[in-house]
Amino acid sequence: MRKLPRVLVVEDEPAIAELIAVNLRHNGFAPTIAPDGVVAQRELDDVLPDVILLDWMLPGESGAVLARRWRQHERTKGVPILMLTARSDEADKIQGLDAGADDYITKPFSTQELLARIRAVLRRRAPQTVSESVHIGDLHLDAATHRVLFRAQECKLGPTEFKLLHYLMTHAERVHARGTLLDKVWGDHVYIEERTVDVHIKRLREALGQAAVMVETVRGAGYRLTIQGLPAGQQ
Ligand code: CA
Repeated sequence: MRKLPRVLVVEDEPAIAELIAVNLRHNGFAPTIAPDGVVAQRELDDVLPDVILLDWMLPGESGAVLARRWRQHERTKGVPILMLTARSDEADKIQGLDAGADDYITKPFSTQELLARIRAVLRRRAPQTVSESVHIGDLHLDAATHRVLFRAQECKLGPTEFKLLHYLMTHAERVHARGTLLDKVWGDHVYIEERTVDVHIKRLREALGQAAVMVETVRGAGYRLTIQGLPAGQQ
């Protein structure tokens, strides 16, 4: 299971920062908010994000100053920077790009535009961080948008069911014991009973509708996602 791409959101206006973070979270990213350069620097020293969304106008050092510095430092120079600004002057845009930003978005921007630009810089600079979509038969899972389609119909999955399906699809045709699934999907939560897996498998099947037959119970062993479950001619 791939890690969600981390996005450091450097933005001093709490309402905007929170709105961006919520949208990122809903679209398969792991955002962290920093209200200024000092907090952002602390975050960068701690964990390197996959992309930085950097507001131009910040208290203390400006976005352009920060971009320039992060580009020069060995540790941060490879991290894509997307500049956010309320100003749309051509001169500002050039200044931002000169400072080392990879791209530039003018406020107000739509969520779709922001997501598209983030994915574009990630693809350009770090192709491995953009989760590919997985297809098995007519079942499609897009890890970046968190969508699951079966024959072009969207299946509405909860977050745990999504993670479970993602794991099963990327490790298809193999039998996975409940303990293994707990480990891989839930992480180190030793207090979760194996029965929990059965509950989420049941929910996953309900959400998958016709594709539910692809999630096979292997008695005494665990679960397997298999294309064999679909009737012949539908594979
Ligand atoms: Ca600002």
